[in-house]
Amino acid sequence: MVSRDNLLAWIEDLHEVYKENRQYLTDLDAAIGDADHGINMDRGFRNVVAELEKNPPDDVTTALKTVAMALIRTVGGAAGPLYGTFFMRASTACAGKEELDAADVVALFEAGLEGVLQRGKAELNDKTMVDAQTPAVNAMKGALDNGASLSDILQQGTAAAEEGMKNTIPLQARKGRASYLGERSIGHQDPGATSSYLMYKSAAEVWG
Ligand code: ADP
Ligand code: MG
Repeated sequence: MVSRDNLLAWIEDLHEVYKENRQYLTDLDAAIGDADHGINMDRGFRNVVAELEKNPPDDVTTALKTVAMALIRTVGGAAGPLYGTFFMRASTACAGKEELDAADVVALFEAGLEGVLQRGKAELNDKTMVDAQTPAVNAMKGALDNGASLSDILQQGTAAAEEGMKNTIPLQARKGRASYLGERSIGHQDPGATSSYLMYKSAAEVWG
């Protein structure tokens, strides 16, 4: 089960993860974008953690909503509103729940992805964060149906996210800044797919 404290532990870990991967994500974005994705994610989660300290949330839903608001407020570009929407929808999916069981966790990530899809209008294989998150959600749903433990569900989601992330390399970007490059976007790993993989990996490590 994922409690409020477990949820906050994940968010704090994401802060660390994006701090550590700031240069890596920025380098990926330098190749096909404007070299700011790592800066955006690092700044965003630094603000998220500061906001959570200032206004400690009572429950899981409020915590996720605080994350969403801080990201929307402090991160520009494509990723801020998209991850903001992810966490806003995730918050709604957890409404009224004291703790999250395996099905609730899968529902959290699925709702987040649906928010990203609605907001960003990307389709699978457009070379975006959707390409990491879609296989991850599908893998987790399959694992849940097979009665896997939360830990196994998250591990399978993370493995699928990693594969989806790597599969963005040969794709031509059709959404976001990278799409301006046309065929020159081919041969590079998508930064947002990478930050989404890291998000899953963190959840698997903290909750696994
Ligand atoms: P910006 O492109 O505005 O500089 P970031 O560099 O922070 O913003 O984020 C870029 C990432 O956002 C891309 O690598 C891609 O994964 C993701 N992205 C861009 N547009 C979309 C979209 N319409 N739907 C989903 N993800 C998108
Ligand atoms: Mg960028």
